[in-house]
Amino acid sequence: MNRRRFLNGTGAALLGASGLGRALPSAASSRGSHASVLILGAGFAGASLAWALKRWAPSLTVTVVAAPERYWTCPFSNTALLKPADLDALEVRYNAFSDAGAPTLIRARVRAVEPEHRALVLEDGRRLTGDKLVLAPGIELATDAIDGYDDAAAARFPHAWEAGPGSLRLAERLRAVPDGGLAVMTIPPNPYRCPPGPYERASLLAWWLQEHRPRAKLLLLDSKDRFTKDALFKAAWEARYPNLEWQGLSDGAGLRRVDGKTGLIETDFERFSPDLANVIPPQRAPALLRRAGLDGGQGWCPIEPTGFESPLAPDVHILGDAAIANPMPKSAFAANSQGKACAAALIADLAGVPRPDPVLLNTCYSLVAPDAGIAVVGSYAVKGGRLESLAAGSGLSPSRSALGESVTTVRGAEAAHARGWYDSIRADAFREGGPRP
Ligand SMILES: Cc1cc2nc3c(=O)[nH]c(=O)nc-3n(C[C@H](O)[C@H](O)[C@H](O)COP(=O)(O)OP(=O)(O)OC[C@H]3O[C@@H](n4cnc5c(N)ncnc54)[C@H](O)[C@@H]3O)c2cc1C
Repeated sequence: MNRRRFLNGTGAALLGASGLGRALPSAASSRGSHASVLILGAGFAGASLAWALKRWAPSLTVTVVAAPERYWTCPFSNTALLKPADLDALEVRYNAFSDAGAPTLIRARVRAVEPEHRALVLEDGRRLTGDKLVLAPGIELATDAIDGYDDAAAARFPHAWEAGPGSLRLAERLRAVPDGGLAVMTIPPNPYRCPPGPYERASLLAWWLQEHRPRAKLLLLDSKDRFTKDALFKAAWEARYPNLEWQGLSDGAGLRRVDGKTGLIETDFERFSPDLANVIPPQRAPALLRRAGLDGGQGWCPIEPTGFESPLAPDVHILGDAAIANPMPKSAFAANSQGKACAAALIADLAGVPRPDPVLLNTCYSLVAPDAGIAVVGSYAVKGGRLESLAAGSGLSPSRSALGESVTTVRGAEAAHARGWYDSIRADAFREGGPRP
């Protein structure tokens, strides 16, 4: 099955299995013929939801509000560090939202969320409401959690954890590392956007340094001792990158302080003055949601997993990175899958029929070199009111194929799958292709 059909099939299975498809024509009926869904965010979660709603219940009024700033996908932004010209291909243009029958897209910044009124207040003073309000604004970087982090630190240690100009600044600083120099990455504690992302980045930085600065070293200072796909990453590093060293929390690698003026990075045990530091800050749900009380004081927003509805605000649903959807990771694939599950639940709610039980999916591909990849696959169902991993639908890249092909062949195939996945999810979430990075 090709990957696009697989992604699209997720939603079809969800609707078909529940018989919900038959309820769709009346989706707008129980709350009048003009039932409306208002969505904050047109990233992987918000855009996937909007298009799924329009596909399955075209009579719904679907309005999406997304910040006016340009949006580049984070997936594949680590490869733009190697080839900055590739960043262009990662920009989402939102052209399909101009087509007839598309969801309405408003490019404006939201200033406040009023959960009790299912309302968004825009910076220009407009106030929008919907029968259902869905919040998918991604993450906020908790730079205040790092001692010494200020404007100078932000400029000197670009995090590039939101793709765009920051990715180019980091790429520039990489090229300024001298041969024999030291590059450092600091990796935050869980949970954060894209659990394998820092390790993919480390692999690609080590690859670049090996090619262009063969005597330079990359040191990873990690705030934890275990990480996703760690055995696969470490095997790849051992085989490929003698220039890369990883230190975990037990090694004293927890970040204590940074100084943007002097370029100093301080851990529990040591001080470094690297030629390049990529400081990835800890993360949390955006202030907009926390100010509205939707995180219940936890930093991230709880949800019930069938419809991703907030237990703290009826008819308010929270998707993507901002939500607590353990054991799903905060990934674009997960956000896309949640968008479809939420669409089916919203349609059911608005039609006054029971929500279907979703099966959610995730695959996180990571490149360990430009031509070598690894992956972790997960599937999830609701059991006893909680999301649980399904052992039968979960797993890691093998070291050999069933046909006995070598690890090099298998890793090469995974890198090609990663690029195919990117094409498919880009088309599925945003209804647009783009030159492949
Ligand atoms: C380096 C890196 C690599 C990654 N690689 C992968 C990968 O290979 N595979 C994978 O599955 N995931 C990957 N991810 C993770 C993925 O990017 C995120 O999980 C995904 O973007 C989450 O989607 P989202 O819709 O929740 O948030 P986002 O994609 O961040 O979208 C948020 C939306 O909300 C809008 N918004 C926010 N605040 C406001 C406001 N106040 N007013 C108006 N609009 C607002 C934004 O404009 C945007 O439209 C990677 C992440 C990083 C950092």
